[in-house]
Amino acid sequence: MRKNQLISVMISLTLGTLVTGCGASETRTDNSSDAISAISETYAEESSLSNATLVTVDTTDEVTNDDQELADIIATYGVNIEVNHSATKGIYPYVLRTESVNMFLAADDIEKLGKDEFFNGLKDISDLMEQDFAEARQVLAPYISGDIPAVDVITDFCNHDSYSSFFGAYYSVGHIKCFYDWNATKTSLLHEYIHYLTLCCADTKATDEFMKEGIAEYISMLRCENRMARSINYMLPEKAIQNYIDHGACTSDGKSIDYVKRYYCDAQLFVEGYEVGRQYSTVSIGNTIATRTEEMQNNPNKSNASYPEAACIISYLVETYSEDAVLGNMGMSATNFEDIFGKSYPEIYKDWVEWNTQKCDELGITIE
Ligand SMILES: [Zn+2]
Repeated sequence: MRKNQLISVMISLTLGTLVTGCGASETRTDNSSDAISAISETYAEESSLSNATLVTVDTTDEVTNDDQELADIIATYGVNIEVNHSATKGIYPYVLRTESVNMFLAADDIEKLGKDEFFNGLKDISDLMEQDFAEARQVLAPYISGDIPAVDVITDFCNHDSYSSFFGAYYSVGHIKCFYDWNATKTSLLHEYIHYLTLCCADTKATDEFMKEGIAEYISMLRCENRMARSINYMLPEKAIQNYIDHGACTSDGKSIDYVKRYYCDAQLFVEGYEVGRQYSTVSIGNTIATRTEEMQNNPNKSNASYPEAACIISYLVETYSEDAVLGNMGMSATNFEDIFGKSYPEIYKDWVEWNTQKCDELGITIE
């Protein structure tokens, strides 16, 4: 019985990607409490908006009504936004500029949520976001020798971009786009920002899908606090949270979920074959949704790794070899594991299975 309960948690974890991947994006919007997984995003090469378009500033000062409306918003909600004077002003009337981001705020998103929900949500996320981003920059600082410019973040809560059918948010060259609402943004934004750091800023770019997703998940789920996602419990429904607590993924008093333990628990469900026959998100961009087969279970390879597997394998490699051995070689392909660690991916995977199983035992996580 308990095993079945835990499996149902995994279904909710993968459902967001699965359902929206099938094009039923309204399901995610209407049932956002359990439909969006923290792992539902990826990197995309193309976008309809270029970074250059967004940052071009028209210095012509023509604002009067704009200034008054802006002053009202700042006074009411305490958000430090500016009028967007770039060519995209018609779509994004305002921009929030911080050390980490230039966040372009879409007019129809403000209309969709209403001013109160939109700007209160912006105030809420902006405070947490700066702390989360600073923490991620600190982890990756040894591997970034140049400056880290503020990244453009674009809201698209009306889901105009077709990628919204598949992902809660994505990083593309030069910008991050966020779909659905602020809660969906909170679950995905740190992961996307880490993509920005490892794909755009790092001295050696993490372009291999396994390394790229594994490192983004490792840092956002296991290494950093991720205040944004935790502030809304990673959008997990209450029932799922209680289920994790009941299976030992909890704080020492047994009262609250421990998100790091929960993540090792998620990986262990893959290890123990509970995902066989089920659809899940893989780290492979060309094969985002796959059905786990016995064959895949018996012959793991980097392209069919789930997000929790990839992240926990990265964690294993960091603990076994050193963070520098992993992050310092983030540009490697997982097929080059042998060169770095002296073992092939299947060998590493086998070692990791033992390690993760032992880790779950030590953490008091029970799968059965
Ligand atoms: Zn990703």
